[in-house]
Amino acid sequence: MNEVIYEAIEAIRTMIVKNKQYLTDLDSPIGDSDHGINMARGFDAVMLKLENSNDPDIASVLKKIGLALISSVGGASGPLYGTAFLRAAVPAQGKTDFNAVLVKDMLSAAIQGIKDRGKASQGEKTMIDALEPAYEAFSSGCDNGGTLLECFELASKAALEGVEFTKKIIATKGRASYLGNRSIGHQDPGATSSYLMLKALTDFCSKKEGEANDGRNCNCIAQQESC
Ligand code: ADP
Ligand code: MG
Repeated sequence: MNEVIYEAIEAIRTMIVKNKQYLTDLDSPIGDSDHGINMARGFDAVMLKLENSNDPDIASVLKKIGLALISSVGGASGPLYGTAFLRAAVPAQGKTDFNAVLVKDMLSAAIQGIKDRGKASQGEKTMIDALEPAYEAFSSGCDNGGTLLECFELASKAALEGVEFTKKIIATKGRASYLGNRSIGHQDPGATSSYLMLKALTDFCSKKEGEANDGRNCNCIAQQESC
């Protein structure tokens, strides 16, 4: 098993479980009050699927994650996030270490997968409103030579701004679109879960960098290129 990806996914699961009620509450006024439940169920299934896996290839692990999300989550978010992980596997094929350039390519592929599947674009009050600005910020950080941690920090900040933006706009995709104008003023649950996942990865990277600085670990995660 690729330890780094396992720990990173565990960090995402912990973040989602901690915010299960919050995400479900956000889904109450503009949806069907299940987003946190869906996401927690999905990542519990992911951890079960990865438990006995012994695969160093990032792409194989990402494919398992995607399939576990698609098969365990009934709501729209399961197939959307599942497709994101399946597509992120494509640039990760044959790779065993993370770096900013690889993660940039993975994010790009993941977002394209969500768009292909859900047909949403920015400004429709969906997870895309957090993910697209996050990708733009990550990408420019990466192009300017930023470390993986620096790129994730920029991405998390942009995603949070995207979450705030969802309060101001009308939903034109997903369940919330049934409300039309009445969706204004409400924060999108999917954009929020996207932000929380990016935040979990940022905190995880920061923890890893701290360990590397303490001399306890390889510091590839703190550099732009793999070690
Ligand atoms: P459901 O709406 O089926 O109950 P969830 O509650 O788990 O599923 O997820 C709702 C979230 O899914 C929304 O807040 C939104 O961000 C996202 N979503 C819904 N439809 C789309 C779509 N077509 N494209 C992108 N994201 C979408
Ligand atoms: Mg829902």
